[in-house]
Amino acid sequence: MSKRPSPISATVDFDADGVQHGFLKLPISTDDSAWGAVMIPVTVVKNGDGPTALLTGGNHGDEYEGITALMKLTSSLRAEEVHGRVIIVPMMNTPAAMAGTRTSPMDGGNLNRSFPGDPDGNVTQKIADYFTRVLVPMCDVVLDLHSGGRTLDIIPFGASHVLENPEQQRQALEGAKSFGAPYAMMMFELDAAALFDTVVESQGKVFVATELGGGGTSTPESLAITERGVHNFLIHFGLIDGEVEMPTEPQVYLDMPDASCYVQSEHSGLLELTLALGDVVEKGEVIARVYDMTRSGTPPVEYRAGRSGVLAARRFPAQVHMGDTIAVIAEVVDSLG
Ligand SMILES: [Zn+2]
Repeated sequence: MSKRPSPISATVDFDADGVQHGFLKLPISTDDSAWGAVMIPVTVVKNGDGPTALLTGGNHGDEYEGITALMKLTSSLRAEEVHGRVIIVPMMNTPAAMAGTRTSPMDGGNLNRSFPGDPDGNVTQKIADYFTRVLVPMCDVVLDLHSGGRTLDIIPFGASHVLENPEQQRQALEGAKSFGAPYAMMMFELDAAALFDTVVESQGKVFVATELGGGGTSTPESLAITERGVHNFLIHFGLIDGEVEMPTEPQVYLDMPDASCYVQSEHSGLLELTLALGDVVEKGEVIARVYDMTRSGTPPVEYRAGRSGVLAARRFPAQVHMGDTIAVIAEVVDSLG
């Protein structure tokens, strides 16, 4: 059964040259606004013919590195710099970003678990559907900026996936490296089915994702890496002129080949991580201790590394619950793909 057209309408003309700032308007009817709309900011910068790049942040609402870098870019990118078209959506899940939360306060929706979406679904599913059927088909390359949000802190990396089409995989990997973060990675997804990534890749487009810090904030360092990376991405794919600027230290390549990279808590309590992000870890080494907070004098439960590598991600809050990811250990490799 064919789906009806998206209920979302854009206030910008995606085919017009110049810089336009507007909204993707999603009609909703609530107690506060009977004939209201969710207003998702969008900027289009177009200059003649050429490729189209879609730059997205705020797929998760508490990942501020991408949101902040793209908000800044919307005010600085000039049409005469661009060859082709750059579409910028700094906060894909605007209701979540406004609330400072990973998921939407309107329906509990996790946008990056809601693809391909549904024009007749809830607000989050309608946003996903609009990207799947309207924005992604317009573009050639997509950069989706993630970071750890409030509950994780992650080393900065550009990432791509193993794909069936070798040329598509090669282009995505080159894009991930050219982002110019200190690390580049081939990602293993715990559950890829409903990701934005999968929708973009299945339409044959080049998709690059990132992780760039976390903790529900940004730092001067994480923002500098993000802004440089967005700039590098646009240069690498021919949208703007310039030279890709790589880190001074050689980029470290990481692989996350399977689920054993993820260390998940089987206890609730107070978390002590014995390693910092980027530290080298040997298989069997103690990486974390979890203390029973209900009584003193109890020895902690120790968590050991299931593999050797570097600490690529860690839980950010000091309290941990059953099932939370405590740590992610990535393998250092000589080459990717
Ligand atoms: Zn995210």
